Amino acid sequence: MAAMVATGAAQRVVIVGGGFGGLRLAKVLADDPVEVTLVDRRNHHTFQPLLYQVATAMLDPAAIARSLRAIFRRQANVEVRLGHVTGVDWDVKQVLVAEGDPIPFDVLVLAAGAVTSDYGIEGVAEHAFPLKSPEEALRLRHHVLARFERAVADPVLIDSGELNFVVVGGGPTGVEMAGALVELIDNVVRKDFRSVDVDRAHVVLIEATDHLIDPFSPKSRQNALETLAARGVEVRLGTTVEAVTAAAVHLAGGDVVSTRTLVWTAGVRANPLADALALAQAEGRRIVVEPDLSVPGHPDCFVIGDLAASRGEDGTLDPQMAPLAQQGADHVAEQLRRRHRGLATERFSYKNKGVMATVGRNAAVAELPNGMRFRGRLAWVMWLVLHLQRLVGYRNRFEVLTAWGWNYLTSDRTARLMIGSDDEVTGPT
Ligand SMILES: Cc1cc2nc3c(=O)[nH]c(=O)nc-3n(C[C@H](O)[C@H](O)[C@H](O)COP(=O)(O)OP(=O)(O)OC[C@H]3O[C@@H](n4cnc5c(N)ncnc54)[C@H](O)[C@@H]3O)c2cc1C
Repeated sequence: MAAMVATGAAQRVVIVGGGFGGLRLAKVLADDPVEVTLVDRRNHHTFQPLLYQVATAMLDPAAIARSLRAIFRRQANVEVRLGHVTGVDWDVKQVLVAEGDPIPFDVLVLAAGAVTSDYGIEGVAEHAFPLKSPEEALRLRHHVLARFERAVADPVLIDSGELNFVVVGGGPTGVEMAGALVELIDNVVRKDFRSVDVDRAHVVLIEATDHLIDPFSPKSRQNALETLAARGVEVRLGTTVEAVTAAAVHLAGGDVVSTRTLVWTAGVRANPLADALALAQAEGRRIVVEPDLSVPGHPDCFVIGDLAASRGEDGTLDPQMAPLAQQGADHVAEQLRRRHRGLATERFSYKNKGVMATVGRNAAVAELPNGMRFRGRLAWVMWLVLHLQRLVGYRNRFEVLTAWGWNYLTSDRTARLMIGSDDEVTGPT
Protein backbone atom coordinates (compact mmCIF):
# COMPACT_ATOMS: atom_id res chain seq x y z
CA MET A 1 0.00 0.00 0.00
CA ALA A 2 1.01 3.60 -0.52
CA ALA A 3 1.66 4.46 3.12
CA MET A 4 3.45 7.68 3.80
CA VAL A 5 5.12 9.56 6.55
CA ALA A 6 4.28 13.23 6.83
CA THR A 7 6.29 15.62 8.91
CA GLY A 8 4.90 18.30 11.20
CA ALA A 9 1.82 18.28 13.41
CA ALA A 10 -1.62 18.35 11.82
CA GLN A 11 -3.00 21.44 13.52
CA ARG A 12 -5.87 22.81 11.52
CA VAL A 13 -8.16 20.00 10.45
CA VAL A 14 -10.97 21.08 8.16
CA ILE A 15 -13.80 18.58 7.74
CA VAL A 16 -16.24 19.10 4.88
CA GLY A 17 -19.60 17.60 5.81
CA GLY A 18 -21.25 16.97 9.17
CA GLY A 19 -22.94 13.71 8.18
CA PHE A 20 -22.14 10.28 9.60
CA GLY A 21 -18.43 10.46 8.74
CA GLY A 22 -17.66 14.14 9.42
CA LEU A 23 -19.60 14.21 12.68
CA ARG A 24 -17.86 11.11 13.99
CA LEU A 25 -14.42 12.42 13.04
CA ALA A 26 -14.91 15.78 14.77
CA LYS A 27 -16.09 13.93 17.88
CA VAL A 28 -13.25 11.42 18.06
CA LEU A 29 -10.69 14.22 17.70
CA ALA A 30 -11.97 15.81 20.94
CA ASP A 31 -8.80 15.05 22.90
CA ASP A 32 -6.28 15.47 20.10
CA PRO A 33 -4.02 18.52 19.71
CA VAL A 34 -5.92 19.80 16.66
CA GLU A 35 -8.24 22.66 15.83
CA VAL A 36 -11.16 21.35 13.87
CA THR A 37 -13.38 23.40 11.56
CA LEU A 38 -16.48 21.47 10.55
CA VAL A 39 -18.09 22.99 7.46
CA ASP A 40 -21.55 22.00 6.34
CA ARG A 41 -24.03 23.62 3.99
CA ARG A 42 -26.75 22.69 6.49
CA ASN A 43 -26.76 23.69 10.14
CA HIS A 44 -27.73 20.18 11.21
CA HIS A 45 -26.74 16.55 11.09
CA THR A 46 -29.40 14.31 9.54
CA PHE A 47 -29.99 10.69 10.44
CA GLN A 48 -30.85 9.62 6.90
CA PRO A 49 -31.97 6.04 7.67
CA LEU A 50 -35.17 7.43 9.25
CA LEU A 51 -36.03 9.98 6.56
CA TYR A 52 -38.67 7.64 5.17
CA GLN A 53 -40.48 7.85 8.53
CA VAL A 54 -40.63 11.64 8.17
CA ALA A 55 -42.00 11.21 4.65
CA THR A 56 -44.69 8.83 5.93
CA ALA A 57 -45.84 10.94 8.90
CA MET A 58 -44.32 8.83 11.67
CA LEU A 59 -41.69 11.37 12.77
CA ASP A 60 -41.08 15.09 12.61
CA PRO A 61 -37.77 16.19 11.08
CA ALA A 62 -36.47 17.55 14.40
CA ALA A 63 -36.55 14.00 15.78
CA ILE A 64 -33.95 12.77 13.30
CA ALA A 65 -31.81 15.89 12.84
CA ARG A 66 -29.75 17.89 15.29
CA SER A 67 -28.05 21.27 15.14
CA LEU A 68 -24.29 20.87 14.63
CA ARG A 69 -23.63 23.85 16.89
CA ALA A 70 -25.63 22.20 19.65
CA ILE A 71 -23.73 18.94 19.22
CA PHE A 72 -20.35 20.69 19.53
CA ARG A 73 -21.34 23.34 22.06
CA ARG A 74 -19.09 21.80 24.69
CA GLN A 75 -16.23 20.58 22.50
CA ALA A 76 -13.65 23.37 22.64
CA ASN A 77 -11.55 22.28 19.67
CA VAL A 78 -14.39 22.26 17.15
CA GLU A 79 -15.67 25.31 15.33
CA VAL A 80 -18.77 24.89 13.19
CA ARG A 81 -19.07 26.88 10.01
CA LEU A 82 -22.18 27.04 7.88
CA GLY A 83 -21.06 27.13 4.28
CA HIS A 84 -21.39 25.50 0.89
CA VAL A 85 -17.95 24.25 -0.12
CA THR A 86 -17.35 24.86 -3.81
CA GLY A 87 -13.72 23.83 -4.24
CA VAL A 88 -10.23 23.60 -2.84
CA ASP A 89 -7.19 25.73 -3.64
CA TRP A 90 -4.55 23.03 -3.33
CA ASP A 91 -1.59 25.43 -3.79
CA VAL A 92 -2.37 27.54 -0.74
CA LYS A 93 -4.31 24.78 1.09
CA GLN A 94 -7.61 26.56 1.46
CA VAL A 95 -11.19 25.35 1.24
CA LEU A 96 -13.37 27.63 -0.89
CA VAL A 97 -16.88 28.36 0.35
CA ALA A 98 -19.72 30.09 -1.47
CA GLU A 99 -20.22 32.39 1.52
CA GLY A 100 -17.31 34.28 3.06
CA ASP A 101 -13.57 33.79 3.35
CA PRO A 102 -11.75 30.62 2.35
CA ILE A 103 -10.79 28.32 5.20
CA PRO A 104 -7.10 27.39 5.54
CA PHE A 105 -6.17 23.84 6.48
CA ASP A 106 -3.23 21.66 7.33
CA VAL A 107 -5.31 18.51 6.92
CA LEU A 108 -8.49 18.33 4.87
CA VAL A 109 -11.07 15.58 5.25
CA LEU A 110 -13.78 15.39 2.62
CA ALA A 111 -16.99 13.81 3.92
CA ALA A 112 -19.63 15.44 1.71
CA GLY A 113 -21.55 12.22 1.04
CA ALA A 114 -23.64 11.39 -1.98
CA VAL A 115 -26.59 12.82 -3.90
CA THR A 116 -29.51 11.15 -5.62
CA SER A 117 -28.67 9.83 -9.08
CA ASP A 118 -31.31 9.93 -11.79
CA TYR A 119 -29.07 7.91 -14.15
CA GLY A 120 -30.03 10.38 -16.86
CA ILE A 121 -33.55 8.96 -17.11
CA GLU A 122 -35.92 11.43 -18.70
CA GLY A 123 -38.19 13.28 -16.28
CA VAL A 124 -36.77 11.87 -13.03
CA ALA A 125 -35.05 15.09 -11.99
CA GLU A 126 -38.21 17.11 -12.69
CA HIS A 127 -40.95 14.83 -11.42
CA ALA A 128 -39.61 12.22 -9.01
CA PHE A 129 -39.37 12.67 -5.25
CA PRO A 130 -35.87 11.95 -3.91
CA LEU A 131 -35.28 11.20 -0.24
CA LYS A 132 -31.95 12.55 0.94
CA SER A 133 -32.78 15.44 3.26
CA PRO A 134 -35.45 16.57 5.77
CA GLU A 135 -36.71 19.12 3.21
CA GLU A 136 -37.25 16.37 0.63
CA ALA A 137 -38.95 14.13 3.19
CA LEU A 138 -41.30 16.95 4.23
CA ARG A 139 -42.06 17.78 0.62
CA LEU A 140 -42.95 14.15 -0.02
CA ARG A 141 -45.13 13.95 3.10
CA HIS A 142 -46.99 17.07 2.02
CA HIS A 143 -47.40 15.69 -1.48
CA VAL A 144 -48.71 12.28 -0.34
CA LEU A 145 -51.28 13.79 2.03
CA ALA A 146 -52.23 16.31 -0.65
CA ARG A 147 -53.14 13.46 -3.01
CA PHE A 148 -55.87 12.35 -0.60
CA GLU A 149 -57.05 15.93 -0.12
CA ARG A 150 -57.34 16.17 -3.89
CA ALA A 151 -59.30 12.91 -3.98
CA VAL A 152 -61.76 14.36 -1.44
CA ALA A 153 -62.26 17.46 -3.55
CA ASP A 154 -62.47 15.62 -6.87
CA PRO A 155 -62.90 11.81 -6.62
CA VAL A 156 -62.76 11.42 -10.41
CA LEU A 157 -59.02 12.08 -10.15
CA ILE A 158 -58.59 8.60 -8.66
CA ASP A 159 -59.39 7.17 -12.11
CA SER A 160 -56.26 8.83 -13.49
CA GLY A 161 -53.89 7.54 -10.80
CA GLU A 162 -54.12 10.21 -8.12
CA LEU A 163 -53.81 7.53 -5.43
CA ASN A 164 -51.15 5.42 -7.13
CA PHE A 165 -47.83 5.69 -5.28
CA VAL A 166 -44.81 4.32 -7.10
CA VAL A 167 -41.49 3.66 -5.36
CA VAL A 168 -38.53 2.99 -7.62
CA GLY A 169 -35.59 1.03 -6.21
CA GLY A 170 -35.89 -2.23 -4.31
CA GLY A 171 -32.99 -1.63 -1.93
CA PRO A 172 -33.56 -1.31 1.82
CA THR A 173 -34.80 2.30 1.51
CA GLY A 174 -37.33 1.47 -1.22
CA VAL A 175 -38.61 -1.54 0.71
CA GLU A 176 -38.92 0.49 3.92
CA MET A 177 -40.66 3.33 2.08
CA ALA A 178 -43.17 1.04 0.33
CA GLY A 179 -43.94 -0.80 3.59
CA ALA A 180 -44.43 2.46 5.48
CA LEU A 181 -46.66 3.91 2.76
CA VAL A 182 -49.13 1.01 2.93
CA GLU A 183 -49.21 1.33 6.72
CA LEU A 184 -49.87 5.06 6.47
CA ILE A 185 -52.70 4.42 4.05
CA ASP A 186 -54.24 1.49 5.92
CA ASN A 187 -53.93 2.78 9.46
CA VAL A 188 -54.19 6.55 9.18
CA VAL A 189 -55.53 7.72 5.84
CA ARG A 190 -58.41 5.24 5.99
CA LYS A 191 -59.62 6.83 9.25
CA ASP A 192 -58.83 10.45 8.34
CA PHE A 193 -60.34 10.46 4.86
CA ARG A 194 -63.65 8.74 5.36
CA SER A 195 -65.15 10.05 2.13
CA VAL A 196 -62.33 8.64 -0.03
CA ASP A 197 -62.43 5.08 -1.33
CA VAL A 198 -59.04 4.25 0.19
CA ASP A 199 -59.16 0.71 -1.18
CA ARG A 200 -58.34 2.27 -4.52
CA ALA A 201 -55.00 3.56 -3.24
CA HIS A 202 -52.18 1.48 -4.62
CA VAL A 203 -48.48 1.19 -3.77
CA VAL A 204 -46.15 -0.19 -6.44
CA LEU A 205 -42.47 -1.01 -5.85
CA ILE A 206 -40.36 -1.20 -8.99
CA GLU A 207 -36.96 -2.90 -9.07
CA ALA A 208 -34.73 -3.45 -12.08
CA THR A 209 -33.08 -6.68 -10.91
CA ASP A 210 -34.85 -9.93 -10.15
CA HIS A 211 -34.73 -9.46 -6.36
CA LEU A 212 -35.20 -6.96 -3.55
CA ILE A 213 -32.66 -5.80 -0.90
CA ASP A 214 -29.53 -6.77 -2.76
CA PRO A 215 -27.07 -7.04 0.16
CA PHE A 216 -29.18 -9.77 1.80
CA SER A 217 -29.29 -13.54 1.30
CA PRO A 218 -31.92 -15.03 -1.06
CA LYS A 219 -33.99 -16.19 1.97
CA SER A 220 -34.22 -12.70 3.44
CA ARG A 221 -34.96 -11.21 0.03
CA GLN A 222 -37.81 -13.65 -0.42
CA ASN A 223 -39.10 -12.88 3.05
CA ALA A 224 -39.17 -9.14 2.33
CA LEU A 225 -40.93 -9.78 -0.98
CA GLU A 226 -43.60 -11.98 0.56
CA THR A 227 -44.19 -9.61 3.49
CA LEU A 228 -44.63 -6.61 1.21
CA ALA A 229 -46.96 -8.53 -1.10
CA ALA A 230 -49.02 -9.75 1.87
CA ARG A 231 -49.41 -6.15 3.01
CA GLY A 232 -50.71 -5.05 -0.36
CA VAL A 233 -47.64 -3.69 -2.16
CA GLU A 234 -47.44 -4.63 -5.83
CA VAL A 235 -43.78 -5.56 -6.36
CA ARG A 236 -42.58 -5.49 -9.95
CA LEU A 237 -39.16 -7.10 -10.28
CA GLY A 238 -37.04 -7.02 -13.45
CA THR A 239 -38.71 -3.76 -14.41
CA THR A 240 -36.91 -0.62 -15.52
CA VAL A 241 -38.15 2.94 -15.75
CA GLU A 242 -37.72 4.58 -19.13
CA ALA A 243 -39.27 7.99 -18.52
CA VAL A 244 -41.29 9.89 -15.96
CA THR A 245 -43.84 12.63 -16.47
CA ALA A 246 -45.97 14.61 -14.03
CA ALA A 247 -48.76 12.08 -14.48
CA ALA A 248 -47.16 8.72 -15.23
CA VAL A 249 -44.15 6.46 -15.16
CA HIS A 250 -43.24 4.76 -18.43
CA LEU A 251 -41.68 1.34 -18.09
CA ALA A 252 -39.47 -0.60 -20.49
CA GLY A 253 -41.67 -2.82 -22.61
CA GLY A 254 -44.37 -0.20 -22.96
CA ASP A 255 -46.28 -0.43 -19.68
CA VAL A 256 -47.43 2.89 -18.24
CA VAL A 257 -48.45 3.42 -14.61
CA SER A 258 -50.48 6.54 -13.99
CA THR A 259 -49.21 8.29 -10.90
CA ARG A 260 -48.59 11.72 -9.47
CA THR A 261 -46.12 10.33 -6.94
CA LEU A 262 -42.89 8.65 -7.89
CA VAL A 263 -40.46 8.15 -5.00
CA TRP A 264 -36.93 7.68 -6.32
CA THR A 265 -34.69 5.50 -4.16
CA ALA A 266 -32.90 3.82 -7.05
CA GLY A 267 -29.41 5.03 -6.39
CA VAL A 268 -26.88 7.66 -5.49
CA ARG A 269 -23.74 9.17 -6.92
CA ALA A 270 -20.93 11.02 -5.19
CA ASN A 271 -21.61 14.60 -4.21
CA PRO A 272 -20.92 16.98 -7.17
CA LEU A 273 -18.16 18.51 -5.07
CA ALA A 274 -16.14 15.48 -6.23
CA ASP A 275 -16.43 16.72 -9.84
CA ALA A 276 -15.24 20.20 -8.90
CA LEU A 277 -11.97 19.13 -7.30
CA ALA A 278 -10.10 17.82 -10.36
CA LEU A 279 -9.34 14.54 -8.57
CA ALA A 280 -9.48 11.06 -10.07
CA GLN A 281 -12.94 9.49 -9.79
CA ALA A 282 -14.17 5.90 -9.88
CA GLU A 283 -17.59 4.26 -10.26
CA GLY A 284 -20.44 6.47 -9.06
CA ARG A 285 -18.02 9.44 -9.34
CA ARG A 286 -16.55 8.51 -5.95
CA ILE A 287 -13.09 9.99 -5.34
CA VAL A 288 -10.21 7.57 -5.84
CA VAL A 289 -8.30 7.09 -2.60
CA GLU A 290 -5.11 5.35 -1.52
CA PRO A 291 -5.54 2.33 0.75
CA ASP A 292 -5.11 4.62 3.78
CA LEU A 293 -7.99 6.87 2.47
CA SER A 294 -5.69 9.76 1.51
CA VAL A 295 -5.97 11.26 -1.96
CA PRO A 296 -3.29 10.34 -4.49
CA GLY A 297 -0.93 13.31 -4.84
CA HIS A 298 -2.50 15.10 -1.85
CA PRO A 299 -1.25 13.28 1.27
CA ASP A 300 -2.85 15.87 3.56
CA CYS A 301 -6.31 15.24 2.19
CA PHE A 302 -8.45 12.25 3.16
CA VAL A 303 -11.86 11.19 1.85
CA ILE A 304 -14.34 9.15 3.89
CA GLY A 305 -17.85 7.74 3.59
CA ASP A 306 -20.06 7.80 0.52
CA LEU A 307 -17.68 10.16 -1.28
CA ALA A 308 -14.68 7.83 -1.17
CA ALA A 309 -14.01 4.99 -3.60
CA SER A 310 -12.51 2.86 -0.84
CA ARG A 311 -12.10 -0.81 -1.67
CA GLY A 312 -11.70 -4.13 0.06
CA GLU A 313 -8.63 -6.27 -0.51
CA ASP A 314 -10.41 -8.02 -3.40
CA GLY A 315 -10.86 -4.65 -5.13
CA THR A 316 -14.64 -4.36 -4.68
CA LEU A 317 -15.97 -0.97 -3.67
CA ASP A 318 -17.08 -0.66 -0.05
CA PRO A 319 -20.87 -0.24 0.40
CA GLN A 320 -22.14 3.33 0.83
CA MET A 321 -23.55 2.91 4.32
CA ALA A 322 -23.31 4.77 7.61
CA PRO A 323 -20.86 2.30 9.24
CA LEU A 324 -18.42 2.80 6.34
CA ALA A 325 -18.39 6.56 6.98
CA GLN A 326 -17.98 6.10 10.73
CA GLN A 327 -15.24 3.52 10.41
CA GLY A 328 -13.47 5.79 7.90
CA ALA A 329 -13.64 8.61 10.45
CA ASP A 330 -12.10 6.44 13.16
CA HIS A 331 -9.41 5.35 10.75
CA VAL A 332 -8.48 8.89 9.67
CA ALA A 333 -8.30 10.06 13.29
CA GLU A 334 -5.91 7.20 14.00
CA GLN A 335 -3.77 8.03 10.96
CA LEU A 336 -3.47 11.66 12.07
CA ARG A 337 -2.19 10.42 15.43
CA ARG A 338 0.26 8.04 13.76
CA ARG A 339 1.61 10.81 11.59
CA HIS A 340 1.94 13.04 14.61
CA ARG A 341 4.18 10.36 16.10
CA GLY A 342 6.13 10.08 12.83
CA LEU A 343 4.69 6.67 11.92
CA ALA A 344 3.55 5.47 8.52
CA THR A 345 -0.16 5.37 7.85
CA GLU A 346 -2.06 2.09 7.62
CA ARG A 347 -4.52 0.52 5.23
CA PHE A 348 -8.23 1.09 5.88
CA SER A 349 -10.29 -2.03 6.06
CA TYR A 350 -14.10 -1.87 6.23
CA LYS A 351 -15.64 -4.32 8.66
CA ASN A 352 -19.11 -5.50 7.78
CA LYS A 353 -21.16 -5.49 10.99
CA GLY A 354 -24.27 -6.89 9.30
CA VAL A 355 -27.30 -5.52 7.49
CA MET A 356 -30.92 -4.96 8.45
CA ALA A 357 -34.04 -3.51 6.89
CA THR A 358 -37.59 -3.16 8.16
CA VAL A 359 -40.59 -3.94 6.00
CA GLY A 360 -43.11 -2.51 8.44
CA ARG A 361 -44.61 -3.17 11.87
CA ASN A 362 -43.30 -6.42 13.34
CA ALA A 363 -41.49 -7.23 10.13
CA ALA A 364 -37.80 -6.88 9.35
CA VAL A 365 -34.82 -8.86 8.17
CA ALA A 366 -31.38 -8.79 9.76
CA GLU A 367 -28.19 -10.65 8.90
CA LEU A 368 -24.96 -10.80 10.85
CA PRO A 369 -21.53 -11.41 9.29
CA ASN A 370 -21.30 -14.78 11.08
CA GLY A 371 -24.22 -16.02 8.99
CA MET A 372 -26.94 -15.63 11.65
CA ARG A 373 -30.21 -14.49 10.16
CA PHE A 374 -33.28 -13.01 11.84
CA ARG A 375 -36.65 -12.08 10.50
CA GLY A 376 -40.09 -11.04 11.66
CA ARG A 377 -40.71 -9.46 15.04
CA LEU A 378 -37.30 -10.30 16.53
CA ALA A 379 -35.48 -8.64 13.61
CA TRP A 380 -37.87 -5.70 13.88
CA VAL A 381 -37.04 -5.18 17.56
CA MET A 382 -33.32 -5.44 16.75
CA TRP A 383 -33.81 -2.81 14.07
CA LEU A 384 -35.64 -0.48 16.47
CA VAL A 385 -32.99 -0.81 19.18
CA LEU A 386 -30.08 -0.30 16.80
CA HIS A 387 -31.60 2.78 15.20
CA LEU A 388 -32.42 4.30 18.58
CA GLN A 389 -28.83 3.74 19.71
CA ARG A 390 -27.39 5.29 16.57
CA LEU A 391 -29.47 8.48 16.73
CA VAL A 392 -27.52 11.53 17.90
CA GLY A 393 -28.60 12.92 21.28
CA TYR A 394 -30.92 11.82 24.09
CA ARG A 395 -33.68 14.24 23.09
CA ASN A 396 -33.88 12.78 19.58
CA ARG A 397 -33.93 9.25 20.99
CA PHE A 398 -36.69 10.17 23.42
CA GLU A 399 -38.75 11.81 20.69
CA VAL A 400 -38.39 8.85 18.32
CA LEU A 401 -39.10 6.31 21.05
CA THR A 402 -42.23 8.23 22.07
CA ALA A 403 -43.50 8.39 18.48
CA TRP A 404 -42.82 4.69 17.95
CA GLY A 405 -44.44 3.75 21.25
CA TRP A 406 -47.53 5.82 20.44
CA ASN A 407 -47.72 4.27 17.00
CA TYR A 408 -47.35 0.76 18.39
CA LEU A 409 -50.20 1.28 20.84
CA THR A 410 -52.57 3.23 18.60
CA SER A 411 -51.37 2.59 14.99
CA ASP A 412 -51.56 6.36 14.63
CA ARG A 413 -48.96 8.47 12.84
CA THR A 414 -49.07 11.88 14.41
CA ALA A 415 -46.61 13.85 12.25
CA ARG A 416 -49.05 14.54 9.46
CA LEU A 417 -49.06 18.32 9.20
CA MET A 418 -48.93 19.50 5.63
CA ILE A 419 -46.14 22.03 5.79
CA GLY A 420 -44.83 23.91 2.81
CA SER A 421 -46.22 24.93 -0.52
CA ASP A 422 -49.91 24.49 -1.27
CA ASP A 423 -49.13 24.11 -4.97
CA GLU A 424 -49.77 20.41 -4.87
CA VAL A 425 -53.27 20.99 -3.48
CA THR A 426 -54.53 23.98 -5.36
CA GLY A 427 -52.11 24.60 -8.21
CA PRO A 428 -52.59 23.62 -11.82
CA THR A 429 -51.94 19.99 -12.74
C1 LIG B 1 -33.08 7.49 2.73
C2 LIG B 1 -31.77 6.86 3.14
C3 LIG B 1 -31.77 5.74 3.99
C4 LIG B 1 -30.57 5.17 4.38
N1 LIG B 1 -30.61 4.09 5.22
C5 LIG B 1 -29.44 3.57 5.68
C6 LIG B 1 -29.44 2.50 6.63
O1 LIG B 1 -30.50 2.03 7.04
N2 LIG B 1 -28.25 2.03 7.08
C7 LIG B 1 -27.06 2.55 6.64
O2 LIG B 1 -26.00 2.13 7.09
N3 LIG B 1 -27.02 3.55 5.72
C8 LIG B 1 -28.18 4.07 5.25
N4 LIG B 1 -28.16 5.09 4.32
C9 LIG B 1 -26.86 5.54 3.81
C10 LIG B 1 -26.18 6.45 4.79
O3 LIG B 1 -27.06 7.47 5.20
C11 LIG B 1 -24.94 7.04 4.12
O4 LIG B 1 -24.10 5.99 3.73
C12 LIG B 1 -24.21 7.95 5.07
O5 LIG B 1 -25.01 9.07 5.39
C13 LIG B 1 -22.89 8.42 4.46
O6 LIG B 1 -22.25 9.24 5.39
P1 LIG B 1 -21.32 10.43 4.87
O7 LIG B 1 -20.72 11.05 6.09
O8 LIG B 1 -20.41 9.94 3.81
O9 LIG B 1 -22.32 11.44 4.16
P2 LIG B 1 -23.64 12.13 4.74
O10 LIG B 1 -24.10 11.51 5.98
O11 LIG B 1 -24.59 12.18 3.58
O12 LIG B 1 -23.16 13.61 5.09
C14 LIG B 1 -22.70 14.49 4.11
C15 LIG B 1 -22.74 15.88 4.70
O13 LIG B 1 -22.06 16.77 3.82
C16 LIG B 1 -22.78 17.96 3.69
N5 LIG B 1 -22.42 18.54 2.40
C17 LIG B 1 -22.65 18.02 1.18
N6 LIG B 1 -22.14 18.80 0.23
C18 LIG B 1 -21.56 19.85 0.86
C19 LIG B 1 -20.88 21.01 0.39
N7 LIG B 1 -20.66 21.22 -0.91
N8 LIG B 1 -20.46 21.91 1.30
C20 LIG B 1 -20.67 21.69 2.64
N9 LIG B 1 -21.32 20.60 3.11
C21 LIG B 1 -21.75 19.69 2.24
C22 LIG B 1 -24.23 17.53 3.79
O14 LIG B 1 -25.07 18.61 4.16
C23 LIG B 1 -24.16 16.43 4.83
O15 LIG B 1 -24.36 16.94 6.13
C24 LIG B 1 -29.35 5.69 3.91
C25 LIG B 1 -29.34 6.81 3.06
C26 LIG B 1 -30.55 7.38 2.68
C27 LIG B 1 -30.54 8.58 1.78
